[in-house]
Amino acid sequence: MNKFNQNHDVSNEQSVLISIELAESLIDRIKKTVIASDVEEGGKFLGRINYDENKVLIKINTFIDSGPGASKSSTHLHPDGEYQEALYRVIELFDPDIEHIGTWHSHHCNGLPHLSGGDIRGYIESVNDCNYNSKYFIVMLVVATRGSTIDYHFYLFVKGLREYYQLKPGQVDVHTPVSQYFLEPLLQLAERFSKLKQGPMNISTIATASKHNENNPNNQPHKTNRVNSGQELIENVNKTQLQKFRSEDSKWFKEHLPRAKTLQNQKTQSVIWQYEKNVNDDVLTLRYEYPPENADCLYASITLLFNGQPLANRKISLDETRFGVIHDLLRDAEESISKSIKQGDTYQQHEENGDELKRYNQHGKLY
Ligand SMILES: [Zn+2]
Repeated sequence: MNKFNQNHDVSNEQSVLISIELAESLIDRIKKTVIASDVEEGGKFLGRINYDENKVLIKINTFIDSGPGASKSSTHLHPDGEYQEALYRVIELFDPDIEHIGTWHSHHCNGLPHLSGGDIRGYIESVNDCNYNSKYFIVMLVVATRGSTIDYHFYLFVKGLREYYQLKPGQVDVHTPVSQYFLEPLLQLAERFSKLKQGPMNISTIATASKHNENNPNNQPHKTNRVNSGQELIENVNKTQLQKFRSEDSKWFKEHLPRAKTLQNQKTQSVIWQYEKNVNDDVLTLRYEYPPENADCLYASITLLFNGQPLANRKISLDETRFGVIHDLLRDAEESISKSIKQGDTYQQHEENGDELKRYNQHGKLY
């Protein structure tokens, strides 16, 4: 996409076709929020961006509202990041391909008809953040309300560039799709909760509320179903994810290491898989322990023991690579132990010998 560097006005770039697609119902949701408010409003866009040399197609599926803990005035908006992050993780469970692709906010309350300096700096930072996956970041700015309608502009920020581009109305396709994004009802429900300022919710609250919603749209969820902190929300999300990992691991252990047993860490209540293998007269043990449910990051830890003595410890990501890591760790440890035995030493002797242990670490890739 060097063309962007030669001609920074993307909207006039003939050879690069840029289009944004979004459902009219999303504009309606934004409209409802903005018209009823006298402070800045906003949300995080989720969707997909496809691009090649000639085309950039941005599909906005939905947005996460700014959350119950957002700080707002007529001149600023700080979203409730903890809420947005937690809700995003729930959405990802159902739609792993969805991405955060941009954001919207409003200036209807202060009359500024364009992005502020702070907005621009923030978005340049966002698109260039190493955790931000896409090359593009789409921004919608609501500039005014007129009766029951709103005026808005779309802007595009591009990774690696300090310029940004305002898109022409013809590049924005607001239409009525055949079917709405399948998680849209969940996002709408979440926004309703935020507006009621009842605090963050958990998955079971959403499920309960959905039920109430089906039966009677005016019905409010029971207070007892509410949780009081973002931490509880994270724990609920972790619990759901850990259940998924444990069921995948259970299948894998049954197939590959059927003699592995499950134990529980008495202190953290975390589940542990323990596998023991005799290597001649010695015992090699692998302990694979899940993180506790209130962990910030979901890493598991693997400990290898040789005759009950810790040999190596390592954190591993709970993703599809974990089985390969467990397999390689076990194989390397076994190989190193058998090699030592063949050479006429016992492994304990290696441990006492600093040089040998170092060599083991290099070859065995245990650390
Ligand atoms: Zn702004």
